Amino acid sequence: MADSRVAIVTGAARGIGAATAKRLAEDGFAVAVIDLDEKNCADTVSAIESAGGKALAVGADVSDAEQVKTAVDRVANELGAPTVLVNNAGVIRDNMLFKMTEDDWDTVMGVHLRGAFLMSRATQEHMVAAKWGRIVNLSSTSALGNRGQANYSTAKAGLQGFTKTLAIELGKFGITVNAIAPGFIATDMTRATAERVGMEFEEFTKAAAASIPVARVGQPEDIANTVSFFVDERSGFVSGQVIYVAGGPKA
Ligand code: NAP
Repeated sequence: MADSRVAIVTGAARGIGAATAKRLAEDGFAVAVIDLDEKNCADTVSAIESAGGKALAVGADVSDAEQVKTAVDRVANELGAPTVLVNNAGVIRDNMLFKMTEDDWDTVMGVHLRGAFLMSRATQEHMVAAKWGRIVNLSSTSALGNRGQANYSTAKAGLQGFTKTLAIELGKFGITVNAIAPGFIATDMTRATAERVGMEFEEFTKAAAASIPVARVGQPEDIANTVSFFVDERSGFVSGQVIYVAGGPKA
């Protein structure tokens, strides 16, 4: 185990990222809470601090190489060398293929794929130096195909290939790389989807729960718990895996 117990969670101002940052703080990590706007990280940081943990708010666009480098350097200087990275930042720009703009495509690829690439590249040197590390990428059940999400499902499938290749390249340095593919999780992202299809969120989650074997939708903490498992010191023989956290075997 590395001396440094510092984790970075991207997109951690809200939703799954916020729950993950809080859980990793509970697990004993100092957590860098990265999101587009540093001010929006305040709630996550104060929740961690008031529970007795340590956190740092950092504003950065994960799709911008300069901002990523500055952010990771700042984390290393202010918290210590980061040896855990959760690539969670995400956006949706849903549209049927015939209506999908180039901007819808590029934005989604930029945040999910370029973002995970840039963050992993900037952070791996700290993990290699420590001869220990954990990278967890947020994929999605949409990687298996989802109407209206050609851009997002492509990016989320791409993250699975990225995960497996990094697992192969970085394994010899004591670094594991895994992915989580959540099903329906109640966050602002699924709220936006409900809005797009013209449904009340409550009605939307009820309809989703009806087709989920465990008869409920997921909560951000369900994903945070799986991140915690992958990051655990005792999970060092689990690498290059994708775990579907969807309340059942199918999306
Ligand atoms: P969310 O509530 O929309 O939160 C996403 C966070 O990422 C927001 O705080 C957002 O900041 C931030 N972000 C967006 N672009 C960014 C960028 N370029 N750089 C840094 N931060 C950025 O989403 P969520 O539902 O928690 O989803 C988290 C992850 O899980 C995503 O990768 C998503 O694709 C994946 N996922 C979610 C579900 C689900 O059902 N919710 C299912 C499968 C996979 P702003 O608020 O400033 O935009």
